Amino acid sequence: MIYKKRFALLLAVLILLPMLSGCEAAETPAPASTQPLSKSAFLLGTYVDISLFDKLDEKIIDKAFDRIAEIEAKMTINNAETSEIIKLNEASGTGAVKLSPDTYLVVERGKYYSELTEGKFDITVGSIVKLWNIGTDYAAVPEDKVIRDTVKLVDYQKLQLKAADHSAMLQEAGMKVDLGAIAKGYAADEAGRILREEGVKHAIINLGGNVLTVGGNPNGNQWKIGIQDPFNPRGDYLGIVPSQDKTVVTSGTYERYFEQNGKKYHHILNPETGYPVENNLHSVSIVTEKSIDGDGLSTTCLLLGVEEGMKLIEKLDHVEAIFVTGDKKVYVSSGLKDIFLQTSSDFTIVN
Ligand code: ADP
Ligand code: MG
Repeated sequence: MIYKKRFALLLAVLILLPMLSGCEAAETPAPASTQPLSKSAFLLGTYVDISLFDKLDEKIIDKAFDRIAEIEAKMTINNAETSEIIKLNEASGTGAVKLSPDTYLVVERGKYYSELTEGKFDITVGSIVKLWNIGTDYAAVPEDKVIRDTVKLVDYQKLQLKAADHSAMLQEAGMKVDLGAIAKGYAADEAGRILREEGVKHAIINLGGNVLTVGGNPNGNQWKIGIQDPFNPRGDYLGIVPSQDKTVVTSGTYERYFEQNGKKYHHILNPETGYPVENNLHSVSIVTEKSIDGDGLSTTCLLLGVEEGMKLIEKLDHVEAIFVTGDKKVYVSSGLKDIFLQTSSDFTIVN
């Protein structure tokens, strides 16, 4: 497999991050190396950037990319030859399919978030995801009647899982699992695990908005992770959060959408109506330890809305969040309030 070296804009921003903590850095000894080794690959439908700030060995990055490619092959809905999810979906209404431990783990976590939200997040959302084709050249508003018929095929309660043999079954023909909301998080966790196993102490993994930090920055400070301004081009931040051995995961209505007759349609769907969720939330960023949970929770909170979403976050240990609404209000969870640094005056922090 060939991975192209690419010094993308995003990466450039990340490289700047150690400097953002410049005041503190001035008092600490000079780092061994602040010039990272960075590589980029297109995987899981997004650009994946990995930057090592120590152990600058390309083979380590390639090993992480190979692992992400393996996860993609098993969980994609685009490659019938390799995908266990396509096998599971094709067997809907007929029988159980044995999954690899990887895929089983992600499907099970998806079912967990479906249960937690009583189906606002629903891991069997695949049939309506396919209908909209958002993120492809064929994206278009489906016929209302077709949407209404298809939502009947979304019901996580009809996804049966058996831990004993890692098998899964969709009870009704036409049902489809879609791991788009959490697979990237799992891939980030696995890439992080590989880097740590290889002895890397300082690194940043960025899977299209799912950021995972290994250690802190080489200056001995925390990484500073930018929170995307949902109303401006990629790389424009509304604020910064510190992160050390943590993940910062954002779900946003701006991530993938299309426009038809002057209206924007984004990719996070309300399983009850079959249409993109509309609750005035434009992005939710989660700060936590495991990226699979950051990914699950960012999509979950975007679906729950500010009030219910924030209530959930405040109940969970080691999970913090930043919610951004259409009227440019920012809600910050209690554990982040003192450390979130607002950098754009376009927004108002309301709590
Ligand atoms: P991104 O892929 O942009 O990082 P998310 O992590 O929020 O964004 O995941 C969005 C994806 O989740 C969609 O593209 C789709 O595959 C899937 N999805 C859409 N609606 C739901 C839903 N209600 N429940 C679970 N998954 C969903
Ligand atoms: Mg998600």
